[in-house]
Amino acid sequence: MTDSLLENAGRRAERYLAALAERRVAPDQDAVRGLSEFDVSFPQGSQEPSAVLATLDRVGSPATVATAGPRYFGYVIGGSMPVTLASTWLAAAWDQNAGYSDMSPTAIALERIALKWLLEALHLPAGSAGAFVTGATMANFNGLAAARHALLKRRGWDVEEQGLFGAPPLRVVVGQDAHVSLFKALSLLGLGRARVIRIATDDQGRMIPEALPPLDDSTILCLQAGNVDTGASDPFLPLCQAARIAGSWIHVDGAFGLWAAASDEHADQVLGVELADSWATDCHKWLNVPYDSGLAFCRDEDALRAAMASTPAAYLAGERASGEREPARYTPELSRRARGVEVWAALATLGRNGLSEMIARTCRMASRFGNELRSSGFQVLSGVVLNQVLVHLDNNDRTRRFVTALQQEGTCWCGGTEWRGKAAMRISVSSWATTERDVDRSIDAMLRCRDLVRQ
Ligand SMILES: *Cc1c(COP(=O)(O)O)cnc(C)c1O
Repeated sequence: MTDSLLENAGRRAERYLAALAERRVAPDQDAVRGLSEFDVSFPQGSQEPSAVLATLDRVGSPATVATAGPRYFGYVIGGSMPVTLASTWLAAAWDQNAGYSDMSPTAIALERIALKWLLEALHLPAGSAGAFVTGATMANFNGLAAARHALLKRRGWDVEEQGLFGAPPLRVVVGQDAHVSLFKALSLLGLGRARVIRIATDDQGRMIPEALPPLDDSTILCLQAGNVDTGASDPFLPLCQAARIAGSWIHVDGAFGLWAAASDEHADQVLGVELADSWATDCHKWLNVPYDSGLAFCRDEDALRAAMASTPAAYLAGERASGEREPARYTPELSRRARGVEVWAALATLGRNGLSEMIARTCRMASRFGNELRSSGFQVLSGVVLNQVLVHLDNNDRTRRFVTALQQEGTCWCGGTEWRGKAAMRISVSSWATTERDVDRSIDAMLRCRDLVRQ
């Protein structure tokens, strides 16, 4: 019975979520070894769906990483607020294809409204176009594709029809500390990872405006809101002003940092970001919706649509004028799940104040980590300006052993990195669920692990 299968899954999910706050964050070795139980040959006969679900839960659940829990501080990974998980379930039951309006009026309406609210929440220009994609990597791809279209069109070149063979050259300017996904997007677009001009950055990874080369109207200037190690953002005001005068296209990778704009207390971190032409961000990070969910915004709707256009096909009614916003005209994908559903649910539940509070609260938890660890004798390598903290012990080798010990200890999980030649532990507080008690428990574990590696 479908009914009991869903209830069964619901009960298992409830049990999983209830245990999250107390279980180890990284799975133990036995659980990971237990995954070999999945590794059987393709079954000849069929099985009861409820038995399949039971195996999934028994073998799979213990070997997950508790990224949805309150003490996961690795990478930049949000949890999922209960309403976003619940609305994703409902949307999964709907099983809508969000490509065209005749496939799902509901999905299309929720995307349109969520986009309008998001532009408001993030203080981006009203009327900008938006696209729901898998994550910030694809959102960077989208924004840069629109840039490539617009700048080549000015040179009389139709890149979607002719490709880049024989096209007038474009210049791409990036900061020395740009995220790897930006280079991936550039490589996918034929713009090349190595053809870029790299601009010097300061001790927090912010682009130094004085280091900008002369800009022109065939240049894409790639800026960043939220460095993945320090949380710091490029100084948008002077950079955007220079680029606008020159007629360059400004693209911002704001996977998590763009959300600073939604917090009254932190909006000054991204002052002037609205002067850009395109923006990439994630909802699966700081908005705390389930994977996967990214967003691209573009000031020039026509440029984005031209970059994402398909050739007409008689059977695709959505490609003909419908008067609706047809999502597939804005994204690389045609068929796509209805990502707007949980984004809408998150925004409808939080409201402007709740969103601002969630961003500010996670930043406050990061400051608590920074202050407490500093007073316990750790080195905090850069200012805690947002939700990221970089911590160093007295030398690189000990720092690396400390990170490994902490991951194995299980109370919390933080990743390692290197910042300006120093090994560091990264703490990223991105989950709605993290409380002060979780921070304090994690700090206790860090102190214990420091003692271990000092011996
Ligand atoms: C996470 C991140 C990305 C990549 O986002 P995905 O959602 O993993 O594709 C890009 N840029 C920055 C600054 C990030 O933090």
